[in-house]
Amino acid sequence: MTTASPSPAAPDPQRGAAVKAADRAHVFHSWSAQELIDPLAVAGAEGSWFWDYDGNRYLDFASQLVNTNIGHQHPKVVAAIQEQAGRLATLAPGFAVDVRSEAARLIAELTPGDLDKVFFTNGGAEAVENAVRMARLHTGRHKVLSAYRSYHGATAAAINLTGDPRRWPSDTGAAGVVHFWGPCAYRSAFHAADEAQECERALAHLADVIAFEGPQTIAAIVLETVVGTAGVLIPPAGYLAGVRELCDRYGIVFVLDEVMAGFGRTGRWFAADHWGVVPDLLTFAKGVNSGYVPLGGVAISEKIAATFATRAYPGGLTYSGHPLACAAAVATITAMREERIVEHAAEIGERVLGPGLREIAERHPCVGEVRGLGVFWALDLVKDKETREPLVPYNAAGADNAPMADFAAACKRRGLWPFVNMNRTHVVPPCTITEAEAKEGLAVLDEALSAADAHCR
Ligand code: PMP
Repeated sequence: MTTASPSPAAPDPQRGAAVKAADRAHVFHSWSAQELIDPLAVAGAEGSWFWDYDGNRYLDFASQLVNTNIGHQHPKVVAAIQEQAGRLATLAPGFAVDVRSEAARLIAELTPGDLDKVFFTNGGAEAVENAVRMARLHTGRHKVLSAYRSYHGATAAAINLTGDPRRWPSDTGAAGVVHFWGPCAYRSAFHAADEAQECERALAHLADVIAFEGPQTIAAIVLETVVGTAGVLIPPAGYLAGVRELCDRYGIVFVLDEVMAGFGRTGRWFAADHWGVVPDLLTFAKGVNSGYVPLGGVAISEKIAATFATRAYPGGLTYSGHPLACAAAVATITAMREERIVEHAAEIGERVLGPGLREIAERHPCVGEVRGLGVFWALDLVKDKETREPLVPYNAAGADNAPMADFAAACKRRGLWPFVNMNRTHVVPPCTITEAEAKEGLAVLDEALSAADAHCR
């Protein structure tokens, strides 16, 4: 990569080897066969970049699990954490703390409608768990509906709600969890001809599921506003409003999961803002403080909050609203406002990433569809543009996944860290990515996609 970028300290391969050896000996990694992985030892990071101990730099086109919306090591966020650690490093959730109150006030101000109270968690899955608990207690019902194409986290309720194959090994078949098909015109479950028909049929399907499950048994519908890990699926115009209407008609709590889509990723503070839809509960995490300290939460509407006005909410977490995490959130949100980072994400998506990716798609037989908004894009890779057969089989592993593995390796060799999931690569850099960095990253993708083209029919 040639773009101006932060210079790492002098390479120190010996230290890198020691870090890696200790990692291999003692760290048990997520989602991995422990002996088949080779994690990169990272020495440092800044802005859109991180680097290893051997002197290799990577442009972070994955934002560390779609997380560092403000980029790495933002000085104002780092300083706020340091200042808070020096002043009051921890306090139990039962106390009022200035940074916690301020973080909640800012989040209430930014979230749509009357989502004016915030329950803090340590991450996204816990936010989903608590949203489901709130919905069940509010309605006195037990069923929860979620989409097949979804990811909601890896804890008990969240993994059962998740629709994608990561659910399979942990699926307890939890009573009351019902999956349905959300809209995805490119891979339509309804054989729809276009977006409008997809929307109409997806809503009719959901109405049927509700009718056959029994509306009086359904506590909540949980949806990602823009589906993230399962494909960056932008809902067609009218879909979210239609779900809102169904929820209102049957007294079902509408939960929008904005853990990935929230805090600027789509070029608006919340993805729901694109469609003017207000849920009853909104879950967030990741971008709220760019992951500098673990934080998530549920933004709660007046109606749901009222349920717990004189009746105790039976849930809590030792680290709920941790002062360091809240200090990071206040600093992140403030910096995003001052530096107009959300507006920048919208602009770079509309002017650079979107057009750049569409142009790339024309050149490569393996790119079936380009979808996205802001700094939230996916390339759906196919064997054949006509049949839309995915480039690798659903949930492929090992040799079956070679086309995607070849593509990822080609990116990394060229100094770009990609986000790869099943037959897709997602383009999810920090919201702060510069135009020059975005263009350089697109050029690398363009070259690396040739590795995937080689596997087309
Ligand atoms: N919901 C969505 C939409 C997510 O993308 C994720 C994480 N990728 C989660 C929930 C779970 O968040 P966490 O990993 O912080 O528990």
